[in-house]
Formats: sequence, structure tokens, C-alpha cells
Amino acid sequence: MSDGAKIAAPRFLRQAERKLKRLHRELSRKQKSSANREKARSKLARQYARVADRRRDWHHQESTRIIRENRAGRDFAKVDRFAPTTMTCSCCGTRVKHMPLRIREWDCPSCGMRHDRDVNAARNILALGRRERLNACGGGVSPECVPAVVDEAGTDRSEGIWT
Ligand SMILES: [Zn+2]
Repeated sequence: MSDGAKIAAPRFLRQAERKLKRLHRELSRKQKSSANREKARSKLARQYARVADRRRDWHHQESTRIIRENRAGRDFAKVDRFAPTTMTCSCCGTRVKHMPLRIREWDCPSCGMRHDRDVNAARNILALGRRERLNACGGGVSPECVPAVVDEAGTDRSEGIWT
């Protein structure tokens, strides 16, 4: 989360592993195109579906809990799921080219800030969400994203952009 809090991922597939292994074994021992093979196949498929159900349910409960504890009555914004939130420095906005999943911490090559992979992404998501909200309300993007226009005399004319 943007405040640095973390939630451990529940390992539902790992928990179901022994049962899945047994069901796979049972299926492999059934004669092809027999009724018993079909039964074993659907038993295995149901077990996989249960893992997916548990994941979905858990995500739903966690997101509801986060909203209840922090954001009830606040604004909600959806963020593009393909936004490069992991690869962008939440401090200076520099975007790096690669970020393999095994990299959990990294230093920004531009500003030198040390980032936790997920907390950095959470901060970017928060910033994106706030920007989207401004757009939805008919406002511009956040002022820090618009370079100030300075004329030769050094007068800040950025006010003109907003009128
Ligand atoms: Zn940076």
C-alpha cells in the first residue's frame, strides 16, 4: 500500500497441492473415454475451480477491508491495469526499461531513491487515481505534470494555461 503496509499472499494453490496431486493420479489411472475417467476429470476440475474461487473471495474481502478501514466515503478511481506503475519512480517519475519479478527493491538511476517494488507501485497507483479523478471532474492533470512556461524576463506565465 502507499503507506508502506504489506499483505502476505495466501498460498491457496500450495494448500490444495496434495489433494490435486491425488486427483491427477486417480485420473491418470482411469481407462480412456470411460465413465469413471469422466468422473475423475470433473472432480479434478472442481478442485481447481475451488482454488480460483478462494483467490477471488480473498481479494474481494481484502479490498473491502481496505476500503472500510481507510477510504469509506472517499473518492474511488479505477486505474489502467497496464500502466507502468512498477517501472516508474514514484519520486521523480523516471521510467526504467526492465523490472523482472524477482527484483523486490531497486534504486532509481535518476534520483537515487531506494524503492520497495510494491510500495513504489502503490504510490504510483494512488497518484494516477488522483489524476484520473481530476480529469473526470473536468480539471486538468495535476499542476506538477505541466511545465511552467517562463518567458525571457523570467516571469511565470503558467497562469495563462489554466484560463
Ligand atoms: Zn527517481
